[in-house]
Amino acid sequence: NQLEDARRALDAPLFADLAGDAQVSFEFFPPKTAKMEETLWSAVQTLAPLGPRFVSVTYGAGGSTRERTHATVARIARETPIAAAAHLTCVEASKDEIREIAEGYWEAGVRHIVALRGDPPVEGARFIPHPQGFASAADLVAGLKAIAPFEISVAAYPETHPEAQSGQADLDNLKRKLDAGANRAISQFFFSPDAFFRFRDRAAAAGITDEIVPGILPVSNVAQTRKFAAMCGAAIPPWMDRLFEGLDDHPAARQLVAATIAAELCGKLYAGGVRNLHFYTLNRAELSYAICHLLGLRPQVAQKEEAA
Ligand code: FAD
Repeated sequence: NQLEDARRALDAPLFADLAGDAQVSFEFFPPKTAKMEETLWSAVQTLAPLGPRFVSVTYGAGGSTRERTHATVARIARETPIAAAAHLTCVEASKDEIREIAEGYWEAGVRHIVALRGDPPVEGARFIPHPQGFASAADLVAGLKAIAPFEISVAAYPETHPEAQSGQADLDNLKRKLDAGANRAISQFFFSPDAFFRFRDRAAAAGITDEIVPGILPVSNVAQTRKFAAMCGAAIPPWMDRLFEGLDDHPAARQLVAATIAAELCGKLYAGGVRNLHFYTLNRAELSYAICHLLGLRPQVAQKEEAA
C-alpha cells in the first residue's frame, strides 16, 4: 500500500537503487610541469577503468596551451583505449592555423573536438575575432566539419552565457552550433538541478533534440569556484558557503563535503532522467571517482572478473 511504499522510500539509502547505467566523461587540463603531468596520468589511470565515453583536454586562453593540449590528447589516444577529445578555441587564431591544428589532431587519431569560441587571454576583455579567424563557436563548428568528419561537442549555459543578449538568444546560438554539425552540448557547471531541468525543457521547446550533457564541478574550494562562476555566469547558492564554513583547515573534511554535494546533484539529475554526465575533474581523480561510485559505476575489469 501507499504508506508502506512511502516508508520504504524513506528508508532506502539515496543511492542504493541506481542501476549503474549512467555514462560519464572526464575533463582534464594540460599539465604545466613534470609533476603536474604525473598527477594527470595518475588521474587518467584511476578513472579509465570506469569506462568513460571520452575524456577531454582543455585549451588555454589565447591558444597558450596549444602544444601541451595536443601532446596530452595525443598521448591519451596513443596509450589508452579511451576516446580522447581536444578542446579548441577561435581566440587569436586564423582559419589557416585552426586548419593546421585540426589536421594535426586527425592525423594523431583524434576524432572528437570540443569546439569553443574561447575568451580573450586578458581577463574581462571583450572577445574580438581574429581578422582571418572564426567569429563564433558556430562558425568554428562549420569550419571543422569542412576539414574532416569530426565528432563535435559544444558548450551550453543552463544559467545563460554572460555576454548573451537574453536566455533565448543564447539558446538560439546553441541551436546554431548544433545545426552547424555539432553532435552534443556539454553544459557549464551549475549547482541547481532545477536550473538544468528548466534549461533542458527550454531547449526541447526550441527544437533541440541532441543530448545536453550536464557538466559537474565537484567543489572543494568555494573561493576558487566563486572566481570561475563570476566569469561564466553560474550562480553559487548561499548554502554552499555555509557548508564549507569553518573547514579552511580541514582539507579531508572539505573533500567529503564536496563529494556529498556533487553526488546529491548527480543523484537528482539521474532521478530526472539524466544518464550522461561530464566531470570537470581539475586533474584530481578521487572526487569524481567517489561520485561515479555512488552513481553505481564500477571498474569494468572488476565487473568482467565477477562475471567470469
Ligand atoms: P559561442 O557559442 O560563440 O557564444 C559566445 C557568446 O556569443 C554567447 O553569449 C552567445 O550567445 C553569443 N553569440 C554567439 N553567436 C551569436 C550571434 N550570431 N548573435 C548573437 N549572439 C551570439 N574556454 C577555453 O578557453 N578553453 C577551453 O578548453 C574551454 N572549455 C570549455 C568547455 C565547456 C564544456 C564549456 C561550457 C566552456 C568552456 N570554455 C573554454 C569557456 C568558453 O570558451 C567561454 O564560455 C566563452 O566565453 C564562450 O564560448 P562558446 O563556445 O560558448 O561561444
